[in-house]
Amino acid sequence: MQEFRSEDLLKCIHCGLCLQACPTYVEAGSEADSPRGRIYLMRAVAEGRIQWQAGAVEHIDACLGCLACETACPSGVKYGWLIEIARAQVERSPARSGVRRLARKWLLDIMTQPRAFALALKAGRVFAPLFGGGSLPVPFARLLGAGMVVAKLPQVRSGTSHTRLAGVYPPVGERRDRVGLLTGCVASVLFHEVNAATVAVLQRNGFEVVVPPEQGCCGALHLHNGFPEEARRRALRLIECFERAGVDAVIVNSAGCGSTMKEYGRLFACTPHDERARAFSAKVKDIMEFLAEVGIAPPEHPLTGRDGRSELVVTYHDACHLAHAQGIRRQPREIIRSIPGVRLVELDEADMCCGSAGIYNLLQPEMASRLLRRKVERVRATGAEIVLTGNPGCLAWIAQGLNDLPEPVAIMHPVELLHRAYHGESDTLYHPR
Ligand code: SF4
Ligand code: SF4
Repeated sequence: MQEFRSEDLLKCIHCGLCLQACPTYVEAGSEADSPRGRIYLMRAVAEGRIQWQAGAVEHIDACLGCLACETACPSGVKYGWLIEIARAQVERSPARSGVRRLARKWLLDIMTQPRAFALALKAGRVFAPLFGGGSLPVPFARLLGAGMVVAKLPQVRSGTSHTRLAGVYPPVGERRDRVGLLTGCVASVLFHEVNAATVAVLQRNGFEVVVPPEQGCCGALHLHNGFPEEARRRALRLIECFERAGVDAVIVNSAGCGSTMKEYGRLFACTPHDERARAFSAKVKDIMEFLAEVGIAPPEHPLTGRDGRSELVVTYHDACHLAHAQGIRRQPREIIRSIPGVRLVELDEADMCCGSAGIYNLLQPEMASRLLRRKVERVRATGAEIVLTGNPGCLAWIAQGLNDLPEPVAIMHPVELLHRAYHGESDTLYHPR
């Protein structure tokens, strides 16, 4: 079992500058639910003063893993590394019963197998009236340790089918490079259109796009939830698959997957795959990061607002694993602003977590719902017709919150907006109702 390194824990000088950046501290107001409080608990475990037990574990479980504390920390504390170790230790400790550990692992396994996930969503929809109109079934939620059953099953734009992209998609015009695309496990079921738009935009900009059919899952959900061995198994398969594809870059449109894939070097540190993993990570690019770097062809079709005449007002939510984990904030905004007819209005607290956070909204639905309400209130204050964000979890979760607004606000990935500006289609814009 991986242990904390004391030099990582001792980097925290208890200054408290991270507290106001931490969504759980801001909402709950307790030191134990702050980054400093959690690091204090980890240190107490590392020094043998306490063991992982109920009172301590609940504060580790309540962490979103959003990494806003890393951005705020002047001492360079690598909180993301610490919480990964803490979660893996918790899963193996007596504080987590074998049944609960199995239930959590089973949920992660289902979500990361597109066919099984699509089937589970279909079944969920059929049996929804039996368990509260779309929430997790109560007994299963109890098994997982979810505090209160309010999280709904995610909304799906194109039905609960698993639509696959696979093969080689040729460039439009002169070929610039050959790139690979991660289609993602959850994303390929819930947001096929985002993958399709990503391929089309890359083609439009002269890239040959390879989508290996056997790519599988990147391991992010398992890694962030205490199952690093399973994450490594999946990561290795992904590395091998893109090595075979012979691509110059691996493009990702999901913030959580991209941030994990950029950290494979650390995941495989001191293993025979160390160097190989680093070489792979060096090729990983978020789609907005990549497009801003290589430069895009100017979009031909100006977009308009709902009335068909005025400018289209949009806002942008920074997905935590883009802004805090990868430092990608400028690039999506640059691309959005380059689309003719679009006006970007900044969102208050744009980089505060929406509460989605992988499977957090299923396991900690009460806090997740508080953060969702906070996010939706701020989206509404912008007056935007569309909120843009670069992560499937945020897309699905914020869409649920937008449903409660009296006026329609749509949500989509920035690459979808760019795709519309290339193709001049506005009739298929996704509205949550
Ligand atoms: S990862 Fe997010 S929720 Fe967890 S301690 Fe850091 S800021 Fe708070
Ligand atoms: S800002 Fe960094 S050093 Fe200060 S309390 Fe938070 S984690 Fe510790």
